[in-house]
Parts: sequence; structure tokens; C-alpha cells
Amino acid sequence: SVDANVIALKAQADREQVLVILYDVTYLRQVEQMQLDFVGNVSHELKTPVTAISGFAETLLAGAKDDPATLDQFLNIIHDESTRLTSLITDILTLSRPSDAPAKHSAVDLNQLLDQAVKSLAKPIKEKQLDVNINVPDGLTIQSDDVKLSQVIRNLLNNAVFYNREHGSVDVTATTQPNQLTLTFQDTGIGIADADQQRIFERFYRVDKARSRHNGGTGLGLAIVAEMLQQLGGDVAIHSQVGVGTTFTVTLPR
Ligand code: ADP
Repeated sequence: SVDANVIALKAQADREQVLVILYDVTYLRQVEQMQLDFVGNVSHELKTPVTAISGFAETLLAGAKDDPATLDQFLNIIHDESTRLTSLITDILTLSRPSDAPAKHSAVDLNQLLDQAVKSLAKPIKEKQLDVNINVPDGLTIQSDDVKLSQVIRNLLNNAVFYNREHGSVDVTATTQPNQLTLTFQDTGIGIADADQQRIFERFYRVDKARSRHNGGTGLGLAIVAEMLQQLGGDVAIHSQVGVGTTFTVTLPR
């Protein structure tokens, strides 16, 4: 509140009375700095795929296209980088107008949302030969916003797949309490060190940039999870051990 940020000092000068009002702008400065950092990060992140796309296209135009193998390889890179660019723009837009669409509430079938998310990951699940188990009671519904909840589920499931090892497993379990629903996403992946656990929900924070990029990661997935859960009145906790795996526990009001 403004009141809390205003310190009024009355100083008695020799002959006149002086009123000094100090506004504490620390919070405003912090918000301003965060916005500047975000814009700086966004520009940097957008430049990476754009530079690759224009670089490879120029090389092709300069003559490399005459070699069929090079043509094929470079077109694949251009295609992958355009896909990355699209994911980035989608994620940035999701985060930059978070309150545009207020959370709507309808009965959301959890198995249905999870099935869709698993289906969209069929290719990497098959490539890594992962064992994916969904332990959610049939017909379990929750009053929530399906679009926002789906973003939470997709992003956590994506990570459980992409940061997993070959022949690993992903277990999603739902349990209900009178006033809340708990969803756990447990993987047998690379794990996250304690020091990083505090930071992974920050925008663009990645433990291993190269690995995240290779997986098509934008560094915004968990920031979106946190933002959506805040809008849904939910929460997320993390438990992880390096080399063993990670469990994200999501709680939602029922
Ligand atoms: P990204 O697009 O890089 O995956 P996220 O915001 O989804 O961005 O995650 C931030 C970082 O947290 C990732 O780069 C990765 O280092 C780490 N991380 C997230 N989920 C997991 C997981 N299930 N196992 C191991 N590391 C993870």
C-alpha cells in the first residue's frame, strides 16, 4: 500500500517547519528491472533461432543447395528452428498477458487431459522407450479451467519425458482430499540439484541450456506452470535427487 511506502518526517528547522515525504520505490524499481530483464532475455532468445534460420538459408542460396545431402540437412535445421521460434512466441505471449482470460470453471476430466498430453508426446516416449503410467480414477473431474490446467499438465509431462533416461518411467498419480486434489508427476530422469530447485520456476532459467535447447525447450515451461497455478489458486512443490529423478506435486482446490 502507498501508506506503507510513505515515511513522513517532520523536521523542525530553525525558523520554519519542513515536511519531508520519502516514497520507497524499491519495489517499483524491482518490477521495472524484472521487466527489463525479461525483454532482454526475450530478444536474446528470439535472436538465436532467427540467426540460425537466416544463416542456413543464406548458405543454401550461396550454392550449398546444389548438394542434395546438405540441402536436406540445412532444411531440417531451418524447420526445427522455426518450430522453436513458434514455441517461444507462444510461451512469451502466454506469460505476457496472463490476466487477459480470467480462469473459467467447468468440470474437467483429468484422464482426458492426461491422455491428450501423453498422445502428443508419443514420439519421444517411444524413442526413449519410456514406461508411462497414469493412475487417475476413471471419470475423476475437477472444477477448473481446462486450458490453463492443460498447460500445467503438458509442461510437467513434457519435462518428465525430456529430462528422463532411456527405459525410464513417468508416473502420474491423482489423489483427492475433501477440499483439494493432488497430482504428482514422478520421473526417473537426471534430477535437479538443490541449488537449482529454487530457480527453475524463473523465466528462462535452465540448468543446462544446451540440453534444454536440444529438447526444444524454451526455458519458460515451469514459469508458465507457476503462473497458471497461481491463477487457478493451486500450488506446486518439487522433490528431486540428482541422477535418481524428480517429482512435481501439484495441489488444486476442488
Ligand atoms: P525448459 O524449456 O528448459 O525445459 P522449463 O521452465 O520447463 O524450461 O524448466 C526449467 C529447467 O528446469 C529445465 O531447463 C531443466 O534444467 C529443469 N527441469 C525441469 N523439469 C525437469 C525434470 N523433470 N527433470 C530434470 N530437470 C528438469
